[in-house]
Amino acid sequence: MDEFELIRRYFSRQAGDADVVLGVGDDGAVLRPDAGRDLVAVVDTLVDGVHYPAGFPAGDVGYRAVAVNLSDIAAMGARPRWMTLALTLAAAEADWLEAFAGGLYEAADEHGVTLVGGDTTSGSQTVVSVQLIGDVEPDRALRRSGARPGDRLFVSGFPGDAAAGLELLRTGGDTPAAARLIAKFRRPAARLALGSRATALASAAIDVSDGLVDDVGKLLAASGTGGVIHVESLPLSESLTSTFDAPRARAFALGGGDDYELCLTAAPADAPALVEAADELGLPLTEIGEVTDGGGLRCLEAGRVIDVPEPGYRHFRDSGA
Ligand code: ADP
Ligand code: MG
Repeated sequence: MDEFELIRRYFSRQAGDADVVLGVGDDGAVLRPDAGRDLVAVVDTLVDGVHYPAGFPAGDVGYRAVAVNLSDIAAMGARPRWMTLALTLAAAEADWLEAFAGGLYEAADEHGVTLVGGDTTSGSQTVVSVQLIGDVEPDRALRRSGARPGDRLFVSGFPGDAAAGLELLRTGGDTPAAARLIAKFRRPAARLALGSRATALASAAIDVSDGLVDDVGKLLAASGTGGVIHVESLPLSESLTSTFDAPRARAFALGGGDDYELCLTAAPADAPALVEAADELGLPLTEIGEVTDGGGLRCLEAGRVIDVPEPGYRHFRDSGA
């Protein structure tokens, strides 16, 4: 199977999207955005052995490659529309590709995203890059930089579950709780509906990919503020606390990555409406702290500053570059 046969077999599904003037098959895709909306472009890459362990199921690789991008779109408060796929493969294995494409289209279909093009190459290891384009009402995109002192700090879902799931993938775990944690890592749910509702209510947003402390720190730095996380307010899932002891559960929640939950800040006047919006969506949204004037990010337990766990994953951290 050469590159063109591969594209034809797995990635040429006909788009039923009227706004795709020209999809897979030409030198470029032609897309017709809705008049008067801002476009939002994101891209994220998964490298075999770096972003998921070797032997990770192909369907989950495909699903995650889309989901992590959907999460960035959610953090911008945007609606996902179209994606392209740059795929580097060590070998063209039909079973792997079939499952990969299945997971990819499954995540895309859940949110009405159309695959409109890509690039396919051979290389020494599997690298999957998805670019996603979304749209949002003019000037309504959520940013990291909008938090103000006094704003409340929220997180959706249960941070730490996915990192615990990744750990269990490595070490093994066969309880129902372990299976739930592993599922969180394998198939993250991008919080698109919450992001969209938050455009009118939140002052700033970021999705949690590198770990709560790391990502909240980025939001606060972009906003030029400090902030506090009250550790006892962290929502810990029953799956997490029944599988790991309290210090490890807390470390996963504060430092673990791969959650793809949203961190949002809201002015005190808007906070109740934001909580209500999440409630209507059936999504837990927990107030975990507040934005302060300065002083960086502090994690408080019973009012006392605790050591912040290791920052999230950083590529090239040990390279000296
Ligand atoms: P070009 O040589 O003009 O870059 P290619 O021959 O690489 O085009 O690709 C042919 C067509 O297949 C293009 O429309 C491209 O967007 C699409 N394509 C290539 N790889 C993929 C892929 N992995 N997924 C979806 N579409 C792809
Ligand atoms: Mg060309």
